[in-house]
Amino acid sequence: METILNYINGGMVEPTGGAYLDNFNPATGEVYAQTPDSNEKDIENAVQAAYAAFPAWSRMPANARCDALLKIADLIEANMDELALAECVDNGKPLSLARSLDIPRAVENFRFFATSIIHFHSESHMMDGVALNYTLRKPRGVAGIISPWNLPLYLLSWKIAPALATGNTVVAKPSEVTPMTAYKLSLLCQQAGLPAGVLNIVHGTGVRAGAALVSHKSVPTISFTGGTATGAEIARSAGPMFKKVALEMGGKNPNIIFTDADFNAAVKGSLKSSFANQGQVCLCGSRVYVESSIYEKFVETFVAAAKKLKVGDPLEKDSDQGALVSKLQYEKVLSYLQLARDEGGKIRCGGGAATVSGERCKNGYFVEPTVITDLPIHCRVNKEEIFGPVCTITPFENEDEVVALANDTDYGLSASVWTKDVGRAHRVADRINAGTVWINCWLVRDLRVPFGGMKQSGVGREGGLEALRFYTEPKNVCVRVPSHA
Ligand code: NAD
Repeated sequence: METILNYINGGMVEPTGGAYLDNFNPATGEVYAQTPDSNEKDIENAVQAAYAAFPAWSRMPANARCDALLKIADLIEANMDELALAECVDNGKPLSLARSLDIPRAVENFRFFATSIIHFHSESHMMDGVALNYTLRKPRGVAGIISPWNLPLYLLSWKIAPALATGNTVVAKPSEVTPMTAYKLSLLCQQAGLPAGVLNIVHGTGVRAGAALVSHKSVPTISFTGGTATGAEIARSAGPMFKKVALEMGGKNPNIIFTDADFNAAVKGSLKSSFANQGQVCLCGSRVYVESSIYEKFVETFVAAAKKLKVGDPLEKDSDQGALVSKLQYEKVLSYLQLARDEGGKIRCGGGAATVSGERCKNGYFVEPTVITDLPIHCRVNKEEIFGPVCTITPFENEDEVVALANDTDYGLSASVWTKDVGRAHRVADRINAGTVWINCWLVRDLRVPFGGMKQSGVGREGGLEALRFYTEPKNVCVRVPSHA
């Protein structure tokens, strides 16, 4: 059985308390690795290492930091198959998805931010004949990075790469549910010769290791992705310490289909946005709204397509859906399926645990792709984030009504709109309160755009320039220009 270690000050080390957590393979329900259950002392050691590494790393020329990060990207790419397998076993997602989405995106994240730092420029403003103003952007010190389990390496690298590129050093606390790819990343960083202390990865629970990182006085920047309740806890701890905090949290995203949409594209796109990664993507369109004139046809076609999705062993090439990430998540999703029945919903397909053929996966956490209709608009299943392969479909009569329905949520992460009417597309995109609105697509995004959510989906933005700004502190310098003699 593999034992994961912490990466602190350039070395692979055991947790100081000697405690470990079981790491489960969700497809089999078996323990396959041990993860450090790190404590405050481990976080302290990591922060001290990051603090000591900061002066040299932040003063290093941007080109040299760029080279170091490109080396890491190359190593991830060279070890793509091993990392994809690790992510599949750790998370339960199909190997094909880890291979085509998660790991390639981690490579892209490192490459994108490595190179963006050499093009990042500061602003200067001339006050006519009075003074020259310019703004320096200084790295802020040690960044504390906390990531979730649904896209483990993808989201960890999305935060680590801009923090390091801008000259910060990092202490990262990946999800204790899926620690394996973060561990493998630390081994690759050693291989890449990343200077000791620049990146530290400490494994353990949120309440212990995560909370210790958030409240550490030498960590002025916190970037978090995870659930809204956890984000609120982090805000409560970091707020009084005046830390700079980015919170990327949950979603309950609307997916709107107008009568004039390309019907087949809308069905195909909605299938992906409802069920990708077993519905465990914060951006999944779990509330589907269909204009009433095509409602019955859409439900029928969509349900027929959902029934064809193969739930299977994540290692098998033809599995469309793997296992949910943990027993906890599996039980949570099943409890929402019961709630949907209690709330009067009609289960059009799925509705329970899925049985997967073969002995290997008989105890895995598999759930059927589930489509529910006829639910009251304000019921819990339509309001709360389920984070599983479950979507609800509701008819609507007109644009005003569907915009109101889409916005009637505490969340505001993303939305999709399917229509061929260009005017309507822009109008609805403008009226929906969400950080990202997709027109006739889903999960397509240039890394240069700001990314984040509104309302309870997030505070602050990451991505592109926003990330480089987030991890730096602007400092204005004003130089008096002597007037002409
Ligand atoms: P979670 O909030 O349970 O855990 C996320 C991370 O926070 C983990 O590393 C966990 O150990 C840590 N944590 C937990 N309690 C903590 C505390 N008190 N202090 C510090 N750290 C703590 O979330 P999860 O279940 O891992 O992930 C699923 C959630 O993440 C969903 O709500 C999903 O929508 C959200 N998510 C959001 C985005 C986005 O970009 N907005 C992206 C992916 C996932």
